[in-house]
Amino acid sequence: MDEPQLTTKELERYDRQIGPGVLSIKGQERLKQSAALVTRVGGMGGPASLMLAMGGVGRVIIAHGGELISPDLNRQVLGSERVLGKPRAPDFGAYLQSMNRFVEIEAIDHEPDDLEAIALARRVDIILSCPPGFEERLRLNRAAVAAGVPLIDAAQWGMTGTLAVLDPGRTACLECVYPSPPPFEELFPVVGGISSAIGSLAALEAVKILSGTGKPLWGKMLTYDGHQGRVSTVQLARRPDCPCCGG
Ligand SMILES: [Zn+2]
Repeated sequence: MDEPQLTTKELERYDRQIGPGVLSIKGQERLKQSAALVTRVGGMGGPASLMLAMGGVGRVIIAHGGELISPDLNRQVLGSERVLGKPRAPDFGAYLQSMNRFVEIEAIDHEPDDLEAIALARRVDIILSCPPGFEERLRLNRAAVAAGVPLIDAAQWGMTGTLAVLDPGRTACLECVYPSPPPFEELFPVVGGISSAIGSLAALEAVKILSGTGKPLWGKMLTYDGHQGRVSTVQLARRPDCPCCGG
């Protein structure tokens, strides 16, 4: 099927990201016909969804429950003083929509359960998993495996962030890496710069995958240790006996 043509106004909007070393026009058209799910849209998912929306991903679905509280504002770039004490999803969705009239934003005001996660996964071409806890991350991984769509898992702690770019059935899945949820502290420390950096890199990988540009970090985990200023990348091994993607 031919990709939808970009209008003159859209070509003008994306002018700086179409050309040698960036996207082709065909790649930009592929973005337009793509859909992405981002959950949640806090420190990492916020900048990730912003870059997807501004970059021209045709439909961006965000999911995040709860209200914005003061300690969120050291990193949640979709928030503002004005939104404090209010539910995030509708406001963040409206803000994303205001950034690009050429895309559609859908905001879900809660974190999806198992069934909803699978239903959402079947409606999109990629999942950007940005929750703080392993239970949700592993749920999104199961949904990605069930629907057969790529999953980009973003995680953060302190000044360190990790990014895993996974393709069910072809690379390791998140459960191959974490067979059971590791111990997790609800209120861990985090500095805004690392949240935004990892969220933006997640969006970059998604744009590459959806548009067919460059070399995605398939099956790899990238770690940026901001405290020590070190970057490393490891290839993740697939576990043949993984209950999620094995067999
Ligand atoms: Zn697996």
